[in-house]
Amino acid sequence: MSTPEIIIIGGGVSGLSCASELATAGRRVQVWTAAPPHQTTSAVAAAFWYPYRVDPIERVGPWAAASYERFATIAGNLALGPTAGVYMREALEVFVERVPDPPWSRYVDMFRHAVPEELPAGYEHGLVFESPVIDMPRYLPWLVAGLERLGVEIVPQARPLDSLAPALERAQVVVNTTGLGARELVGDSRLYAVRGQTLRRERGELSRVIIDEHGPHGISYVIPRGDDVVLGGVADERDEDLELRPEQSAAIFERCARLEPGLVDNKPLGASVGLRPCRDEVRLEQEERDGQLIVHDYGHGGAGVTLSWGCAEEVRDRVQSWLQARRGG
Ligand SMILES: Cc1cc2nc3c(=O)[nH]c(=O)nc-3n(C[C@H](O)[C@H](O)[C@H](O)COP(=O)(O)OP(=O)(O)OC[C@H]3O[C@@H](n4cnc5c(N)ncnc54)[C@H](O)[C@@H]3O)c2cc1C
Repeated sequence: MSTPEIIIIGGGVSGLSCASELATAGRRVQVWTAAPPHQTTSAVAAAFWYPYRVDPIERVGPWAAASYERFATIAGNLALGPTAGVYMREALEVFVERVPDPPWSRYVDMFRHAVPEELPAGYEHGLVFESPVIDMPRYLPWLVAGLERLGVEIVPQARPLDSLAPALERAQVVVNTTGLGARELVGDSRLYAVRGQTLRRERGELSRVIIDEHGPHGISYVIPRGDDVVLGGVADERDEDLELRPEQSAAIFERCARLEPGLVDNKPLGASVGLRPCRDEVRLEQEERDGQLIVHDYGHGGAGVTLSWGCAEEVRDRVQSWLQARRGG
């Protein structure tokens, strides 16, 4: 490929979405990544559209709304949705007491309060809405195939970069989408891990997402994807142990089966652990160094998929404005 104008560091959902936006805008883009897409945190994401453990609210809202639109468009295209692994599913969020409607309720379709017959035992209140569900083992390869068609090269790195310097030597613009890796890459001590663990079972007939974010034992969710259903969850602050914990698997299953009793008939398929890249606020900002542009886009916590397209659109707009201002095009 010809010399890239833009190098994106990171091959998770953030990096691939940014690459897609910039290449679609006609830019020459390369993605440099230590881990291939299927071995990133993004590959472990459950993943449904839901702004979880992410701030600041005033920026998260528009990013989440833009992503919702994009996922709904992909899912609505019958030729595309199943190939991409994106589905619109009815979601039910349950509460033990009445709560005000969340700020994101205005971004989602079909939002309403649940009627009592819809609620599992022990719950008093529920929100029903349509939520994109993203089957990451299908979605990430679909994004990669789209990038190949756009001429984007994904360049594996033998080990994580120690600094941005090698990328800045090759391209005028560098986009940093390294998730938790930004702690070392750019010395960001505001990033920390929140460990998650999920189970997978056969999907059977299940098609409704159920979430209990505020239960006494942490978040619980049941997410029917394409062929499987993902059960969670765990949110262990500043815990970076990637080993599976069997006692957590048992507790997740017990909580989820209370939300969705039909699960007990579905065959277990496996379990995963991942580290959410949390930060007091998402870092989406730019800096100029010696006439070059660096855009940072990381720290999306438990909502990197939920925010992926909205953040990628902002990255694209920032890069485009900067390049156009410098060389009129
Ligand atoms: C159990 C679990 C469930 C989740 N569920 C959901 C959900 O339902 N919905 C949702 O929206 N989000 C969910 N998340 C959160 C989501 O997974 C993350 O927010 C998202 O994956 C972050 O994506 P990213 O591309 O920014 O980072 P990552 O996926 O971590 O990708 C970072 C990339 O940068 C590369 N990299 C890092 N450092 C360097 C370096 N120095 N040099 C070169 N390359 C480098 C890595 O190799 C990798 O390719 C979940 C997370 C977990 C753990």
